[in-house]
This record gives sequence, structure tokens and C-alpha cells, in this order.
Amino acid sequence: MINAAEAPPIAAESEQRIPHAPDEMNASWPLPRTPFVSSPYRLAGRELHPQDSVFSVIPTNGVSFQVGADAFSVIGGPCTVESEQQIVETAIAVRRAGGAALRGGAFKPRTSPYSFQGLKEDGLKMLATARKETGLAVVTEVMSIDKVDLVAEYADIIQIGSRNMQNYPLLEAVGALDKPVLLKRGLSATVSEFLSAAEYVLARGNQSVILCERGIRTFESDTRFTLALGTVALLKEKTHLPILVDPSHGVGKASLVRPMSRAAIAAGADGLLIEVHPDPIHSVVDGDQSIGFDTFAAIMNDILQLAPIVGKSICHAASIEVGVKK
Ligand code: PEP
Ligand code: MN
Repeated sequence: MINAAEAPPIAAESEQRIPHAPDEMNASWPLPRTPFVSSPYRLAGRELHPQDSVFSVIPTNGVSFQVGADAFSVIGGPCTVESEQQIVETAIAVRRAGGAALRGGAFKPRTSPYSFQGLKEDGLKMLATARKETGLAVVTEVMSIDKVDLVAEYADIIQIGSRNMQNYPLLEAVGALDKPVLLKRGLSATVSEFLSAAEYVLARGNQSVILCERGIRTFESDTRFTLALGTVALLKEKTHLPILVDPSHGVGKASLVRPMSRAAIAAGADGLLIEVHPDPIHSVVDGDQSIGFDTFAAIMNDILQLAPIVGKSICHAASIEVGVKK
């Protein structure tokens, strides 16, 4: 036992700091009082970047739009591209209702290898046609590193799906692109894991990352997933990155998409990702959760009413006239 006289002096409160960062571990004690960031997601977090991120999506031959800060951006489209007619028809409806971008899967991550896997490059070409017809930016998923260049050739925003949220080499590959990335939350990822995944993209240099809350797996089985809107409010505190909500996968039921879209706006989301199809019942993938054009237009109208209440002043106006060729 040491007596009080032999005990080392108690450090002042400001010196009683535990080192967290690896470079601090190697520094001599006591540490200099320089600011440091202990968070594992120092680029995604608000510590070094308190202001909301805002950036523009600038499609090839299309209409640019803003994501983040005071903008509310809606991305709509079918789960998967099925035909040129289906995707162009949907793009026209999305644009007319005021959507900012068209989403359609060409490479589909399916639970069963026997399910429809997407039209692949043909689907990408159909998305490009829909963009040409309507001016809408195109969002589509990439599932593997070997397809990053191909998908980036067509997409204006690259989607990383839930199942790939922790595919670190893929995150690094899209982090090297000069193109916005839409990162969906893993089915059972924590908020910290979600932000750390975003950090992989940011750390490679790509600062245009859009997060997407799409529901997590819980004990609840009456909805497909549990749409974690509390997480949206929490993410707004923790990160400056824009956050979209995908109510379609979040609940898995078409009739719940509109109420959950309203709830997402109120929770502080920066936009929505919604599955919309010309004939939802006959949709090849995710028909139960796909809404028709009328419901999509009704949601866009809700946004015009609700978004300004939560500080979103830039919403696309409903009933945009599209220079449609067919
Ligand atoms: C999708 O967006 O159609 C999709 C497959 O989503 P998730 O990765 O969230 O399951
Ligand atoms: Mn889907």
C-alpha cells in the first residue's frame, strides 16, 4: 500500500483522458490537449462536420436535384426492371407526380437462386431509355465489384443493398467513384455498424453518401420488417449525411406505405425510396409492397403539405409536365 505522501499527484480533470485513437496510444503521457475524434465513424459523424451535408445529383442528360439539408427528395420505381414499357411508363408517372429520380433493379439480390435475378445489362439499358424519355436520374443496385464499372456507366446514383451493407471491398470500390451512393441499412445492422459502413465509402474519398433506413428484422412477423423510424431521428443527431426512408421494404404491405411515408417525413427524413409499379399485383418482384401511380401521386401531395412543417422547403412540385415522347 502506498501512503498519501508517496502517491503520484492526481491529474487535473483535463488530463484524466483515456487515449482512444491509435496515434494517441503511442503518444507520451500526459497527452497534449489537441482535439481528437474518438468515433469510429469520424467522417460520417457530426463531430468534425456539424452542418448537414448537401449535394447535387447530376444525371447524364437529365434533371439535377438536391439531396440533403432543406431538400426533400423522392425516388420511385419498381423493385425490378421488367420491360422497357414498364420502366418508361413508371418513369413518366414518377416524374409527373414530382419524383426526383427513378429506381429500378437490374441486378437483384434474391433469397432464392431460383427466383428472378433481374434483366442485368438489358435492364440497365432500359433504365437509360427511361432517363432519356423523362430526364429522371437513375438509381440502381450493384451487387459485386466486377459489375461496378458497368453499373456506374448507367446509374446516376449507385445503390448498395441491405445484404451488401457490410461487403467492405464493395463499399471501397464505390467509395472510389465520383458518383453518389445510396447505402441501405443491413437487415440486422446496428446504427453504429450502419455508420461505419458509410465510413468505408467516405474514407475512400466519395463524400456523396445517402443513407437509407429500410427496416430491420425483429420478432414481428405481421410486417415484413420493422421500420425503425426512431433510428432516423437518431441518425439525424449522429450524422450529417442525408437519410432516406424506404417504407416499402420497411412494412412490406402496400396499404401501409402511405401512412409510413407521412411518418418518415415527420421523423426528419430527407426523402423517400418507394416501390411503385404500373400494375402492382402483377409485379414480378415485391408486388405486395408496391403501390400504384395514384397512391404515389397522393404521397407526393402529402409531402407538399407536410415537409415544410419540418423545415424542408425544397420539394419537387406535383404535376410536373414532362416532355414525354410517347
Ligand atoms: C430493393 O431495394 O429492392 C432491395 C432489394 O432492397 P433491400 O436491399 O433493402 O432489401
Ligand atoms: Mn424490392
